[in-house]
Amino acid sequence: MEDTYRHKGMRRRLVETLRKKGIKDEKVLEAIAALPRHFFLDKAFEDHAYQDKAFPIGSDQTISQPYTVAHMTELLEVSKRQKVLEVGTGSGYQACILAHLGARVYTIERQKELYELAKTFLPAIGYPQIRLFYRDGYKGLPEYAPFERIIVTAGAPYVPDALREQLSVGGVMVIPVGEEEQTMYRIRRIAANLYEDEPLGPFRFVPFVEGLNE
Ligand code: SAH
Repeated sequence: MEDTYRHKGMRRRLVETLRKKGIKDEKVLEAIAALPRHFFLDKAFEDHAYQDKAFPIGSDQTISQPYTVAHMTELLEVSKRQKVLEVGTGSGYQACILAHLGARVYTIERQKELYELAKTFLPAIGYPQIRLFYRDGYKGLPEYAPFERIIVTAGAPYVPDALREQLSVGGVMVIPVGEEEQTMYRIRRIAANLYEDEPLGPFRFVPFVEGLNE
């Protein structure tokens, strides 16, 4: 896989587009500028990799739109060394953005095929530190909890209690909630029994499905 000047130029233009759409966090923009998104797509879509669009990645799933990745990452307020749980590995792009920001990333996926693919692919492109699991996101990853940050990249009909419980006190979760259409929520765990749920804008994600898929 090659990352040419042409790709880098397209990425710089994508970053300018994201800036115009309101992304302000320079570290997030720098991560988008650094990570070759075309590595995560089929060769057939290579020339579309730097459009601000979602694309199919197999198993009926999509790699999220760059704006959505940037916006959610910005909302998550990640800093170096933080322990982050991502639900919905998919292509692994969002996980690499988080790792690029210096987070300690744990990511879970319910589709066996996508999990297997990401497990060999992420180390191969320079992210061996990302920990991948074939798990149901409704249950989270209790043996590694608590997490300072949790990001859910599929549209959740409701916020699973297991994920609230696995968030550190003082932690932040970003999750799109809704059946057909979702509202982005930023949830802060203020104290052991106190959460603040902040509704933000409308989005559309692939569904957060309960249980594993072989
Ligand atoms: N973060 C991904 C986006 C993938 S789309 C990326 O950067 O490419 C959402 C992903 O969530 C899909 O791969 C889907 O299979 C997965 N998913 C849906 N329900 C899930 C569940 N219950 N547990 C884990 N992953 C789930």
